[in-house]
Amino acid sequence: MIRQALISGGGIGGLAAALACTRAGWEVRLFEQAARFSEVGAGIQLGPNVTRVLQDWDLAGALAEVAAFPDRLQVRHAVSGQALGVLPLGAAMLQRYGAPYATVHRADLHQLLLAQVRERTDATLNLNYCLARFTQTGDAVTVQGRVQSGEEISKKPPAWGPQIEGDALIGADGLWSPVRQWLLADGPPRVTGHLAYRALLPQSRLPEQLRSQHVTAWLGPRLHVVQYPVRGGEWLNVVGIVQGRLDAASSADLDNWDHATNAQALRAALAGTCAPLQDLVNAIDTWRLWVLCDRPPLQGAQQQAQGRVALLGDAAHPMRPYLAQGAGMAIEDAAELGRALGQALDPALDVPTMLARYALNRWQRNAQVQARAIRNGQIFHADGLVSWGRDAALKLLGERLLDLPWLYGGT
Ligand code: FAD
Repeated sequence: MIRQALISGGGIGGLAAALACTRAGWEVRLFEQAARFSEVGAGIQLGPNVTRVLQDWDLAGALAEVAAFPDRLQVRHAVSGQALGVLPLGAAMLQRYGAPYATVHRADLHQLLLAQVRERTDATLNLNYCLARFTQTGDAVTVQGRVQSGEEISKKPPAWGPQIEGDALIGADGLWSPVRQWLLADGPPRVTGHLAYRALLPQSRLPEQLRSQHVTAWLGPRLHVVQYPVRGGEWLNVVGIVQGRLDAASSADLDNWDHATNAQALRAALAGTCAPLQDLVNAIDTWRLWVLCDRPPLQGAQQQAQGRVALLGDAAHPMRPYLAQGAGMAIEDAAELGRALGQALDPALDVPTMLARYALNRWQRNAQVQARAIRNGQIFHADGLVSWGRDAALKLLGERLLDLPWLYGGT
């Protein structure tokens, strides 16, 4: 008997889930509320724990075509410019963990997963489909969504589509996940008080001395900046994170915020930093602003899966980006989901048991990564004595502090 998975959300997590479920022998119907599949213009780091999953899915070649593989991660002080520590990446990561450390444009990673789902699976992909009603019984889960036709420009809300039944529902619908609210009713995510300014540009547009093929993290009081190459090293991704709040009115429509205003605000926040960092930020005019939100970790496996419904990616564990693992954990979730659903051939296992196993094998690792990301933020943004201790430890222990076998070694 072929079982059917319904997936809410077509981001990196939803597409990875579609791939994993079809590999496990399930039929997949995926629903994405947007009119087309797309990702924001920003970079993403993928540790060897994540590229190992992509290797297992035969995507290493496709990744190599679009990613960069920096040879080291260097940590520098944002104010003094001093080098604090280095973690060799490149061959060292390959040798240690059997998979590379990659940096990639999010749209390229998303596109790569989408092409794989389209070309190598029978998954049905539905766009303009915003799931909003959910029910489950002992036998099935049912969803219903509002369906917008591409041309429809109407003041009326889009019409309800038909009810759709499946054996399992995977909520991969992100930070504001409706599936999560149906399951857990725990309200909106929390605003962290940190703002992220992101820029992505061809390195050729920068003066020679500002181009770079490494991952560089600049740490300063109440701020940090990370830069790394993507697209085979031809583009540079830069993200500056500063502590500060936007009022509700300013954060209401961030997409339409003026790039010049963003650039000005970031430059003001970095005013006391070293010349090389200021030169980089001053050379870039186009910055997009994000208000960073997260949620506390789940309290147990029963929150990540209930009956025939499971959460995956940001829907389950939205985290601060200070360990660069949010999408990574979504991909790890998907791999584990595939393993759990692949047990379908065992007639003794019902769907709720499979999903419970998935959740049991994922929730603690996700919680650990979420907690570590928060701690990293505190260390990155430290001031005074704490920052002095951080710098001394990094200079003394460097690689031993920066390498994370518990994370990069996988689950
Ligand atoms: P999303 O990308 O949010 O996708 C959810 C999808 O669901 C969307 O397409 C949405 O339209 C759709 N959807 C929502 N509601 C509905 C509905 N009702 N019906 C149908 N569809 C719906 N991660 C890393 O691994 N490495 C990094 O270096 C990294 N850097 C980051 C830097 C910053 C500044 C930030 C903010 C994040 C970073 N992340 C990083 C985290 C990463 O971006 C996220 O964890 C990841 O994109 C989450 O993917 P997702 O598929 O779970 O959610």
